[in-house]
Amino acid sequence: MEFKASYLEIEPHELAHYLLRESGQQGRDAVNPPDILKVLRLQHVTFDFKVELPHEIREEGVLPRALLCFDERLVATDLSLRRKRARFSVLHEIAHYVLPNHQHALYVCDDRGMGPWTRLRFEREANEFAADLLFHGDRFTLETNSHVISAATVKLLAEKYRASYEATARRLVERNFRPCMLIIFEKKDRRAQISVDIEAVWTKKYTVASAPFKAAYFADIQSAVVPAEVVAVVTTPGRDVGEGYGCRVTVRDQTDERRLFDGEFFYNRHNVFCFLSPPKK
Ligand SMILES: [Zn+2]
Repeated sequence: MEFKASYLEIEPHELAHYLLRESGQQGRDAVNPPDILKVLRLQHVTFDFKVELPHEIREEGVLPRALLCFDERLVATDLSLRRKRARFSVLHEIAHYVLPNHQHALYVCDDRGMGPWTRLRFEREANEFAADLLFHGDRFTLETNSHVISAATVKLLAEKYRASYEATARRLVERNFRPCMLIIFEKKDRRAQISVDIEAVWTKKYTVASAPFKAAYFADIQSAVVPAEVVAVVTTPGRDVGEGYGCRVTVRDQTDERRLFDGEFFYNRHNVFCFLSPPKK
């Protein structure tokens, strides 16, 4: 017979729910990380990592964003982080602290680990747990499914939950009961090219799809480029992130068949995004 402590039977989302309740987040839209830190009796400090972090902690020249000293019950974040990133970083370190299978050790976390496609298991689990806290677990899921899939919804929910537009758009798709895909585009560096006034090219960085979309169509797109006329519209200075640009999008699937979707493009000053949905008849 195998013995297991009951604590280890707790699923991460139940643990997140417990922490949200114990720290009094129920009545709030945006989670307040200091309340959770207080429940766990963790200290949070902020300092300039570039100046004050010991050299041996920096690995491979990548500057960390946040760290957790388990024994000292201390979370530290870099002074240079903008507010939303600092919030997410604190929640990520809280995850390392509470997740039962995570080692009781020093965690030093950088951009790669906190990115959506990290291959490191502990980092991925900490990101998922942090997102559960940030989006109040199932609350966001219910809410997002009661809204249309659009740039305006991303803006509304990102401001409500005080999360980044990218994290919100991703969660909106991951938790959707309707078929939809999000394509995130990044600006291709064309400085190496001869002409300086050549049009910027936005190419696919990654995609996420809802379960119904994967079941009905495909799980990923091999390559995609934002049409120049769409780039010109969505990156117009002063245009709001919540103002999408709708158009028909053709995608060639694995069998080389052309499929038509309703696309909505929008821009958050870092990336161009596109929602794909089945065409309305
Ligand atoms: Zn981490």
